[in-house]
Amino acid sequence: MMCTVGIVGGTGSRPIMRGSRREEHRVATRWGPVDVAVIFGETAVFAYLHRHGMGHTVPPHAIRHEANMAALRAMGVRDLIGINAVGSLRTDLPVGSFVLLDDFIAAQSVPPRDGPTAVRHTDVSRPYCERLRSMIARELAACPGFRSAGVMAGVVGPRFETASEVRMLRQLGADVVGMTGVPEAVAAREAGLCYAAIACVTNLGVGLNPERLRHADVELEMETIVATLVPSLIAVAAALDSSAPCPVCGMGDYCCSGLSSSPTNALNS
Ligand SMILES: [Zn+2]
Repeated sequence: MMCTVGIVGGTGSRPIMRGSRREEHRVATRWGPVDVAVIFGETAVFAYLHRHGMGHTVPPHAIRHEANMAALRAMGVRDLIGINAVGSLRTDLPVGSFVLLDDFIAAQSVPPRDGPTAVRHTDVSRPYCERLRSMIARELAACPGFRSAGVMAGVVGPRFETASEVRMLRQLGADVVGMTGVPEAVAAREAGLCYAAIACVTNLGVGLNPERLRHADVELEMETIVATLVPSLIAVAAALDSSAPCPVCGMGDYCCSGLSSSPTNALNS
């Protein structure tokens, strides 16, 4: 079964799989096996990958993004939508908002990834595919809480941020903070996938909210948000035409399969 559209979810993203027929696949990659589900929605078929593993056993800093991207590529995915639970760095971006990211800041030294086998310096002047972004924006525009642009600060985790870190990240120009979205965006680009990400605000950053932050609350909030997003995500998946090269980021001809080593995006030196 091949799927040209994929969705990657994490904490609280299970509603994407609920209520639809699905097939489970175990895909072999050079980094080890990866589980991918094929979801048969009413109007669209797409691949779903849980970035923490189907049993939610892999912490953010240990996710093998390269393996995930290679598995999705092997399933035929070209257009990939990431769904992330994030903390808000702004009080005017409340819980329940969801942000179609347009840039990121790798705010802490992110854990080393496996990375491509050859030396590559990937262009991230536009980290997210504008074709995907405009499709998603069209579908989600009418949803309450939708923001069509925003910057994610990527942190290592798995702990949450301190109040001082939240203030610092806001001053750096970020709107939301998360642990998995930034390395995933880079890995997707390195794998030659068209990638866009929807950051769902599950909590206000520490210091913006008097309550203590607990993972269980984040997960519950995320499930509510994702459940409301599912019909729109399926509409996006149904509307995507992945058969032609992407006219925006020019990624129809994959630059790196993750399964071979033929980089085309490396700088000459
Ligand atoms: Zn693209």
